[in-house]
Amino acid sequence: MLKKNTIREFREILGSNNCWNRPEDVICYSYDAAYEEPVSPDIVVKPGNYNQVSKIIGLCAEENIPLVIRGAGTNLSGGTVPLSGGCVLLTTGLNRILEFNKEDLYAVVQAGVITAELALEAEKNGLFYPPDPASMKVSTIGGNVAENAGGLRGLKYGVTKDYLMGVRFYDAEGNLIIGGGKTVKHATGFNLPGLMISSEGLLGVMVEFILRVIPKPEYSKSLMVVYNDIIRACETVSEIIASRIFPATIEILDNFTIKAVREAIKTEFPAGADALLLIEIDGHPEVVNKDFDRILKICNSFNGTVRVANNKDERDKVWEARRMALSSLSRLRPTVILEDATVPRSKVPAMMKAIQEISKKHDITIGTFGHAGDGNLHPTILTDKRDRDEMKRVKMSIDEIFHAALKLDGTLTGEHGIGFLKAGYLEGELGAGTVNFMKKLKHGIDSKNILNPHKMNL
Ligand SMILES: Cc1cc2nc3c(=O)[nH]c(=O)nc-3n(C[C@H](O)[C@H](O)[C@H](O)COP(=O)(O)OP(=O)(O)OC[C@H]3O[C@@H](n4cnc5c(N)ncnc54)[C@H](O)[C@@H]3O)c2cc1C
Repeated sequence: MLKKNTIREFREILGSNNCWNRPEDVICYSYDAAYEEPVSPDIVVKPGNYNQVSKIIGLCAEENIPLVIRGAGTNLSGGTVPLSGGCVLLTTGLNRILEFNKEDLYAVVQAGVITAELALEAEKNGLFYPPDPASMKVSTIGGNVAENAGGLRGLKYGVTKDYLMGVRFYDAEGNLIIGGGKTVKHATGFNLPGLMISSEGLLGVMVEFILRVIPKPEYSKSLMVVYNDIIRACETVSEIIASRIFPATIEILDNFTIKAVREAIKTEFPAGADALLLIEIDGHPEVVNKDFDRILKICNSFNGTVRVANNKDERDKVWEARRMALSSLSRLRPTVILEDATVPRSKVPAMMKAIQEISKKHDITIGTFGHAGDGNLHPTILTDKRDRDEMKRVKMSIDEIFHAALKLDGTLTGEHGIGFLKAGYLEGELGAGTVNFMKKLKHGIDSKNILNPHKMNL
């Protein structure tokens, strides 16, 4: 509960229109896209300039008020739930693309810019900003950097960290820190953009980024490959990578997810398939056509039936249907838990088998889709958090999914971050020494522990 004087100070910094503290106004900032219990903040603020950001941090530091930064709130790890109340700082008022430099191939953008808006701006300029989380129509660049968001094109083009050249952020005392810059090479001082990648709101409030853009691929080809056996689909993925072919995208959908998408929208996804691979190859036309022929042979050798998208419209429809996977599954049960355990690509078939066994063993419904070309599967558990007995089995399933991924040399999360939900598993992957190092880093930078406290258990 904030003191009246403190609320007045917030209002003085922001004006009353950009600051809310009535329970009915702040409740929608009590949760995000993950499934944990909601917790309301005491106050929500929406700064419109950097000076206000700095002053808010200063006030929170002085009064020991927890400060949770929020972009679009689409993260899937509970990262924006204000576990101890306090202040939620919205970045949506910082939403301008400040510079788009076609000569030097970078964009300077504020933290609240929507990912798809940057991608569109790049396209208008004949360029390409590849990171494309399925949430890109609403997610912010600040959230993408803080979670190191990936997307469908990660296989060939990498993830957000591969495009971050520079960052401006305010530290836990409200001081402006500038990291990186506009040059391709930059070796001055610590790699602060690297530090802020995956920082999940724990190390500073990021307000501005310099992001690399690249030339647009000249030509592309999309194909859908239909399988009667999902393990054969996974083996195809491993074989394509082992053959040194790098399509822009290889996505997988299992039978359950295909059905869910078919129920939600009109789609060409075939009804009876056990699995689908969606593949896009891009680049120089000659290379694309050559890679296409090689991929075709590999798919056939694993009993996949290939359908090629004949035009842009057909291609767009397929990718739009893929982006609907999570929302289609979400319609089926009250609680959806999306995991993103990730394994080396040769281990995708083993991970898929493990997920199937876990689902059967605990009698839990799991629809799996994801970025198979990156080894990044999204086993999506459909449940009802009011059913205690089922939730016990869900918890066991999640433990076993993580255990299986780590056993296969994988990681807890390929792109969704640790937040609150996966905090208990962190030590299992990194070890106590590394978690302790991260704690020292966090508390050295934020000695009062006001920035997103309790996340990652740091
Ligand atoms: C339907 C759906 C599909 C999705 N698909 C993908 C996908 O394909 N790939 C993928 O990677 N993710 C995906 N996500 C997850 C999510 O969209 C991403 O993690 C995204 O990057 C979050 O952006 P956001 O603006 O919503 O951030 P938020 O959820 O608001 O915040 C995420 C974290 O970043 C911190 N943060 C936000 N802004 C700042 C800032 N300016 N400074 C410091 N810290 C900050 C927050 O405190 C929080 O810890 C999906 C989510 C949904 C709901």
